[in-house]
Amino acid sequence: MSVRTVTQEELEEQRLYAQKVQSMLHIMLEKPLAYVHSYGCQQNVSDGERIKGMLVEMGYGLTDNMDEAKVIIFNTCAVRENAVERVFGNVGALKNLKKRSPDLIVAVCGCMVQQEETAKRLQKTFPFVDIIFGTHVLHTLPYLLFSVLFQGGRILEIPESDGVIAEGLPVCRESKIKASVPIMYGCNNFCTYCVVPYVRGRERSRSPQMIIDEVKTLIADGCKDILLLGQNVNSYGKGTDVDFPELLKRLDELDGDFRIEFMTSHPKDCTERLVDVIADSRHICYHLHLPVQCGSDRILKVMNRHYTVEHYLQLVDYARKRIPYLNLTTDIIVGFPGETREDFQQTLELMKRVRFDSAFTFIFSPRHGTKAEKMEDPVSAEEKGKWFRELLDVQSKCGEDSYQKYIGQTVRVLCEGKGRTSSEYYTGKSRQNIIVDFNGCESDIGTFADVKITKALPWALIGEKIN
Ligand code: SAH
Ligand code: SF4
Repeated sequence: MSVRTVTQEELEEQRLYAQKVQSMLHIMLEKPLAYVHSYGCQQNVSDGERIKGMLVEMGYGLTDNMDEAKVIIFNTCAVRENAVERVFGNVGALKNLKKRSPDLIVAVCGCMVQQEETAKRLQKTFPFVDIIFGTHVLHTLPYLLFSVLFQGGRILEIPESDGVIAEGLPVCRESKIKASVPIMYGCNNFCTYCVVPYVRGRERSRSPQMIIDEVKTLIADGCKDILLLGQNVNSYGKGTDVDFPELLKRLDELDGDFRIEFMTSHPKDCTERLVDVIADSRHICYHLHLPVQCGSDRILKVMNRHYTVEHYLQLVDYARKRIPYLNLTTDIIVGFPGETREDFQQTLELMKRVRFDSAFTFIFSPRHGTKAEKMEDPVSAEEKGKWFRELLDVQSKCGEDSYQKYIGQTVRVLCEGKGRTSSEYYTGKSRQNIIVDFNGCESDIGTFADVKITKALPWALIGEKIN
């Protein structure tokens, strides 16, 4: 198997199916509506925007209310067991809706159903689910919907593949101010706990020109905040002329008033050169999400992460030196198989040493098909729960005053809407990607404002607009 670029002919074929669906829907008195819910990470949300784009091309309107939808699509996540259970619960709850309106079409796609066992379990448990389709056939949604509308029956479409790149799919973005741009798909790292490489296929980078053109168009359309997406952006374009730091540099050279964010960085591939590009840039956010996962070299090795705590600390020290107002965030897994109290203690030490601005913390969840699923895991769930609470405690103490340093500073805020701390405020993000609430007005939305910080909460800043 190999990674495949979907041809223009194939996409044209899908457009023809979309037209066929559209002409069929045309005869309806009211425009039919579609409901799409994406679970999990930003990549899934980005796929969800393409699903919506294809639905709009087919003649559907979009709704946030499932009760009025003629098509319901759940775009699922598989990264932890609770994400999977939630989908089973939510799909199960559609049973009555489907009884009330038998012409409702229910589809489930995304990472969870790319695992054959789970897809079949879903199909068997819920006979009312019409379409189940995997991550590698997302672009064929027009054909799948056409088939069910015209021919009836149920579809299970989860071909095994190393992955595809489908350029030029229609996109229906959530916001005019913010947009995400996938720069690569899949993952080759096979961290032993992680299901992503199995459900998203091999790592594949989009061409730099495609990305630059897309970003240019977004800027020209007034977009101000562009999030570059990849499971490990640091391995973008590895071995070619345009690696990730070079791509960032080229994007930073574009004219306009905008910001570039990116996620996720893998510490093994994150370099001082990348840090330098951020530090010297005009547009790149001072935010590094650098998942460390654990503070024990022994466990990092079994996790197949390919870096040591020492390497991580060197990187962090360099980044903090070059970018004094860096927002440093991380992911931590507690209770990896074989992790001892001493290993966990080392994670706590690392948290105290680095003092992350914030951390996303997870209890290890065994995933089907991964190496860690089969590892000895003697620590009880109860004990892991205790460690987890301890970790939250340490992080909340370390992160509590991390924003204090902004008091008295003036930060540039991209205003996004009504305030989060109070409805009298407007809200946005600083270049560090930190939430800032301030005394703005409706016309600030979608523009940058200079805000002098007067108060720091553990999760947000509050200030006064000065321009
Ligand atoms: N590609 C990114 C994100 C992967 S998923 C990266 O490498 O960082 C996001 C986070 O979920 C991971 O960083 C990890 O902390 C967590 N995660 C992944 N698999 C998990 C599992 N089986 N159990 C618990 N947490 C997990
Ligand atoms: Fe999963 Fe590791 Fe790949 Fe991230 S880098 S997606 S954690 S396998």
